Amino acid sequence: MNVIFIGAPGSGKGTQSQMLQMHLGIVGISTGDALRSEVTNKSEIGILAKSYMDSGQLVPDNVVIDIIKNIIVKPNCNKGFILDGFPRNVNQALELEKMLESLSKKINKVVFFEVSDDILIKRISGRFSCKNCGAVYNHYFKPLKKEGYCDKCGKSEFEKRNDDNEQTVKKRLKVYYQSSFPLIEFYKKKNLLVKLDALKIAPLIFEHLLSSLNS
Ligand code: AMP
Repeated sequence: MNVIFIGAPGSGKGTQSQMLQMHLGIVGISTGDALRSEVTNKSEIGILAKSYMDSGQLVPDNVVIDIIKNIIVKPNCNKGFILDGFPRNVNQALELEKMLESLSKKINKVVFFEVSDDILIKRISGRFSCKNCGAVYNHYFKPLKKEGYCDKCGKSEFEKRNDDNEQTVKKRLKVYYQSSFPLIEFYKKKNLLVKLDALKIAPLIFEHLLSSLNS
């Protein structure tokens, strides 16, 4: 099964992607994660992408399209994949169609994660993670049980993504409405779209996700 997740930053796509990867044994592909690892490695792509990412703008289409092209041809994607954060605009969606056609593959479902803006802003600007084990927390919704110490590994060093601050979040939401929102109409017309109420708690969203994928 090949699936696309569409939703604003902070709508929970990453969490649901991880759950679905485990459940179906398919690959999760996040362009955001791929770009962040390029930034960490200070590669040519990473250096180019960093300024766009830090200011909440989209990285140029050709860069992300090349990243996806290189991943999607790998044999581990044959059983299926989840695209999280790609496509982000209609041009990327059209390029994806061409790519899949050349590989004789197709998208089975496009899942749209619906959440209101005020919740999104808190979800993103409150997000931080443990530097040691990567456990993710939120000042508003999932605080540390013991202030200053990771619930999972007990270490006390935490980090925040550069673009997870309120100012950049507002910019990212604006970009999302301008560039990514038209994708909803695009995939609706193709009869591929299913909507999820992404305000619920993760296990309930996952239940709904599974039934939507089977419908
Ligand atoms: P994410 O982790 O999906 O929220 O992505 C973080 C940042 O990476 C975005 O704000 C963009 O700057 C960049 N990015 C991720 N995916 C794409 C994409 N498909 N097209 C352009 N830029 C992207």
